[in-house]
Order: sequence, then C-alpha cells, then structure tokens
Amino acid sequence: MSTEKKSVLILGGGLAGLTAAKRLTDKGFQVKVLEKRDIFGGKVSAWRDEEGDWIESGTHCFFGAYSVLYDLMREIRTDHAVGWKDHQLTYTLAGGERFTFNTWDLPSPLHLLPAIVKNGYFTLGEMAAFSKSLIPLALKKDKYPPTQDHLTFAEWAKEKKFGNRLMEKMFRPMALALKFIPPEEISAKIILDVTETFYRIPDASRMGFLKGSPQEYLHQPLIDYSTSKGAIFKNNITVDELLFDGTEINGVQLRNGEILTADYYLCALPIHNLRKVLPDRLKQHDPFFGGLYNLEGVPVISVQIWYDKEITTADNVLFSPDGVIPVYANLARTTPDYATLRGEPFIGKTRFEFCVAPAKKLMGLSREEIIRLVDQSVRNCYPETSKGAKILKSTLVKIPQSVYAPLPYMEQYRPTQKTPLHNLFIAGGFSQQLYYDSMGGAVMSANLAVDGIVNHHSHAH
Ligand SMILES: Cc1cc2nc3c(=O)[nH]c(=O)nc-3n(C[C@H](O)[C@H](O)[C@H](O)COP(=O)(O)OP(=O)(O)OC[C@H]3O[C@@H](n4cnc5c(N)ncnc54)[C@H](O)[C@@H]3O)c2cc1C
Repeated sequence: MSTEKKSVLILGGGLAGLTAAKRLTDKGFQVKVLEKRDIFGGKVSAWRDEEGDWIESGTHCFFGAYSVLYDLMREIRTDHAVGWKDHQLTYTLAGGERFTFNTWDLPSPLHLLPAIVKNGYFTLGEMAAFSKSLIPLALKKDKYPPTQDHLTFAEWAKEKKFGNRLMEKMFRPMALALKFIPPEEISAKIILDVTETFYRIPDASRMGFLKGSPQEYLHQPLIDYSTSKGAIFKNNITVDELLFDGTEINGVQLRNGEILTADYYLCALPIHNLRKVLPDRLKQHDPFFGGLYNLEGVPVISVQIWYDKEITTADNVLFSPDGVIPVYANLARTTPDYATLRGEPFIGKTRFEFCVAPAKKLMGLSREEIIRLVDQSVRNCYPETSKGAKILKSTLVKIPQSVYAPLPYMEQYRPTQKTPLHNLFIAGGFSQQLYYDSMGGAVMSANLAVDGIVNHHSHAH
C-alpha cells in the first residue's frame, strides 16, 4: 500500500475551509487552501483599518448551541476567548421602552418561565396565545419544524393567531438578526427550529462574544495549527472553475492561469461563488448541482459607530424592532479588546456595532445616508442617554451576498457535503447540517465533509 499522503485542495478560506484544513491535516492529508481575498475568515473576517481599529464583516454572537465550534476552539486552545454573557435577551424600543426575556438555571421548559410571566412588556394573554401556538412543537419536537417549510414565518403566525405585537416587537428583529430577512420571507421552519432548540436545551440560547477579533482568536490560530502540520494557505488566489472530465474533478482553473490538481477537492465557498466555479456540464445535467441554483445570498450591512458618551452600559447582545438595527452590541462593553478608538483606550463611552437589515433597499444608499439612519435608530431607542452624544467615528461594510436565504421550500436544495462525484465535497453554512448558515454551521459542515473524504479514502484502500 502506498504511504504517500493523499492531497486535498480546499477552495475558500472562510471558517468552513479553515476548519476542514485543520481536521484534514490531523487525519494525515496534504492540504492546500486557496482564498481569493487577502485575508482569511470569509464572513467572520476582521481586519484593522488605517487607524488601527478592528473592522468586522459583522457582529458575531456565539450561541451555547454551537458545541462543535467550542470543540474546535478547545483543540486550538482558544475556547477561553469566548466571554459568556448573562442569559437574557433585551429588546430596546423607540421612545426608550425596554423588555427583557430572562432565563433561569432550571431544567427545560422551566428555564423559560420568567420570559413568559415577567418580561415587562407582553401581557399574560399574549404569552398564553403564543404558548398555545407552540403546542405542536412541544408535542412533535424536532419532527415539527421540517413540516412547516412551505410557509413563511409570517404565514405560520397568521395561522396560529398569536398576535401582532409579538410578531412586530419580538419576532421581526429575531428573524432579521438570525438571517437578515423579515418574517414575510423567512421559512417558518427556521424560527421553529431555533425555538425548539432553545426550548429543549436551556444552554443553547446563552450567548457570548469573543474577547477580541476573530482573526486573533479563530482564523490565525487555525492557520498556525495547520501550517505547523504541513498545510499550505494561499491568499489572493481566485478559483475560476472546477475542471470535470465527465467522471470526476481533475483540476481547478485559477484566475492567474495556473491549473492545480489534487486527489480530493473540497469547495468551501459561499453559494453564489460555488455556482460560478461549477462546470456547465455538471450544472445542466445533474439535479444535485442543478438544485443549487435555487439558493441565493442575502444582502446585509455592518456599521460601527463610536460615540463620545456611554449610551448604554449593557454588556450583552441587544435587539431592536424599531428602525434599521435589529441586532447590535456596545463592543466597548462586550468585547474587551475592542474598548479602543484609534489605538487609545475607549472606556466609559460607546462603540456600537450594528447589523443593519433588511438591507435590500439600503444597499444603494450612500455611506452617509446609512450612518444617518442608524444614528436616528439609536437616538430613537435611547432618547435620554443619547442626548448631546457626538459621533467620533463610523465604519461601514456592505455584503451584497452573505448567508444563504432560508426562504420556504429551500431546505430541499441544501446540498449534502458528499456530492455525486467521488472526489468532490462541499462545505459551508448553506450545506445540509443542523445550524443553518452560522459559525456552528460552517464548522459542522466542515466536519461532515471531512468525514466524507476520510470515509471515501479508507474504503478506497
Ligand atoms: C453580518 C454578519 C453577521 C453574522 N453574525 C453571525 C452570528 O452572530 N453568529 C453566527 O454564528 N454566524 C453569524 N454570521 C454567519 C457566519 O458568518 C457564516 O455562516 C459563516 O462565516 C460561513 O462560513 P463559510 O466558511 O461557510 O463561508 P464564508 O465565510 O463565506 O467563506 C467562504 C470563503 O470563500 C472565499 N471565496 C469565494 N469565492 C472564491 C473563489 N472563487 N476562489 C477562492 N476563494 C473564494 C471567500 O472569500 C471566503 O473567504 C454572520 C454573517 C454576517 C455576514
């Protein structure tokens, strides 16, 4: 038997690609990762601007549910870098109104009791109507959400009649925070899946933030680990096409004219980029690959604003149904390394990072217009503490196609990591796994793709 290492080319150096690289080098494969940008990390990437401040593709919350991500972080010794916050969800409303869903350290479903009986905003009648709508979920558990993929969440809620206020004030920002699309677009399956998990596993909904940048606590440690075991990471390399000989993939065509070959090819690209590199022959004739053309990426905008006053002391994720900032955080509180401005300590003031969504209609606006809308939303939600607050700095990142859009009927098109071609595998948040397009999903998809390659390799020998 040959002792030569089998080679894997990984296309895309986002979290899925970097995870797969680590897992495959651990299994003894010779790995090369090709990334088109000059930085790794994809949608979780972060970089310093010319003034030394970290800019992120987006605010990233770590849910307790992502056990596969924490396994990975333990292996690269960075699990200590997740700072867990109080187990609660706070909603900030126009006019300074607030409500908070607290969670108690009790077994399911008792952990949700305080959220139902003393959230300070919804009446017991509203919460009772909502609890009633969840009876099928309580009875059928995880078997129920997949049966509701034909409805948007708004359609599902209308059927269940649980009331407009819950939809507008709680579920609208939740849908926007989760997948950047409103309840009229998101499949009911997604919200029900998340609700079911939070209901069943008390710690699943606990949230944390990295103590600093994902570049320092995730991507670089992953790259360093794999490099020390022989993996090669190439940035500024764009893959143009997978080459197909009618039976298998026999190379990748790079934009720089080179062709690279390997024993296995693992595509860890976003869905819109995966579609671009697939050879015409595959997409037209194979239903597995043809199905990918139904999946689309969602636009989203990330904004940071540094204010000269402490507008909120909240050291946690915040939601807002009013305005354009469904989910945000004061990084000067949540993320210790980010309590800075232009390299100087930034204490007792506010460094907000916002996820701005839905972004479809905002993508064409200028930077100034978007910052103005965000600032307006802040001042609406904090009429008192924002009085007289001045903006010291703002940054903005537009992502035209971010996570895949989980619209009704899309679940059937999410590909498995194993493809009909024996030497081609797929990873990425959009591929089939429990966590949808998220950090947990990216890691789980990579784990599954690696299992597929390892299985194929061991059967071939
Ligand atoms: C604003 C925002 C906020 C988010 N918040 C959260 C959150 O709070 N919690 C959470 O869990 N998840 C969150 N997510 C989702 C999470 O970031 C993604 O699900 C995850 O990062 C997907 O990783 P991936 O590796 O599958 O894809 P990607 O990160 O997209 O990686 C794909 C990589 O492929 C590269 N690439 C593309 N085309 C080519 C090519 N032709 N050749 C070579 N390389 C190529 C890209 O540059 C990229 O680096 C958020 C996403 C965004 C955008």
